[in-house]
Amino acid sequence: MARPVFRFAPSPNGKLHLGHAFSALLNLKLARQCNGKSLLRIENIDQNRCTPDLETEMLRDLEWIGFEWDEPPRRQSEHFGEYNAALSRLDEMGLVFPSVLTRGEIRRLVSEKQAAGHEWPHDPDGSPLYPGTEHLLGDEEKKQIFQSNAAYSLRLDLEQVSGLENITWKEGKAGIVDANPAKWGKPVLARKDTPASYHLCCVVDDSIQGISHIVRGTDLYEATSLHRALQNLLDLPEPEYLHHRLVLEEDGTKLSKSRHDTSLADLRASGYSPADIKDLLDERGLFENPFYTARQEKERTRNA
Ligand code: GLU
Repeated sequence: MARPVFRFAPSPNGKLHLGHAFSALLNLKLARQCNGKSLLRIENIDQNRCTPDLETEMLRDLEWIGFEWDEPPRRQSEHFGEYNAALSRLDEMGLVFPSVLTRGEIRRLVSEKQAAGHEWPHDPDGSPLYPGTEHLLGDEEKKQIFQSNAAYSLRLDLEQVSGLENITWKEGKAGIVDANPAKWGKPVLARKDTPASYHLCCVVDDSIQGISHIVRGTDLYEATSLHRALQNLLDLPEPEYLHHRLVLEEDGTKLSKSRHDTSLADLRASGYSPADIKDLLDERGLFENPFYTARQEKERTRNA
């Protein structure tokens, strides 16, 4: 059997916190348990928010907590050509359309629909599904958008894809899960100034890095539906997924990169050692019980 390959894929757009430490160390632990490889991917596609200074701090934090990576890190900013190739493939299938609707215009269209009594669905990230009609534009009109100065985005017309309802993924002990990519409407794949969205980069990178096991926070559980749809469209191999519990604030909310009290750099500055960080995670039972049971996961997604 091929050697399993794991990855930790943080974005250097803020300070790493306890949640990142847990995710990184859990990946490393699982990789080492099965003689697998542990890789690091630097998800810095958003060049406005991800800076070299933040990347340096991130690498320092990761070394400090004892995360190990077995190959030089893959940096998304160095692979625009590969994302572009994937985008062109989807475009050749006739599945990509340019959209010039701004966020404000989307909000306005959605409120009009709501005022007319239609409940308008939101994607799992909380954004309203695309309410426009630009997927119906002809080639000439599309060309005009590309030639104009408009800040367009490129969206995936999932409605044109057949067989989406048969897509599944393998989720750790829970087994086969039905994917539901339609929940994402017509998701953005790229913007004029950002060569690819997180979702597109993620599936391209996972396949190029040969990732067999994707161990990441349960906040990305719903994204897996879209990732599996993209993998199917692009003929990419199917990895196994394990979404782990999140490290939460005392009040049950998610840790954030802008809060400082749980950032690794601040914990280090206030005298914590790497062993103390592991203890903090152990005290919360995270390594002992890293994953939700299938029942808890159902309960969680129902309440989300
Ligand atoms: N870069 C993403 C994050 O920091 C993680 C992506 C993934 O693990 O798929 O949340």
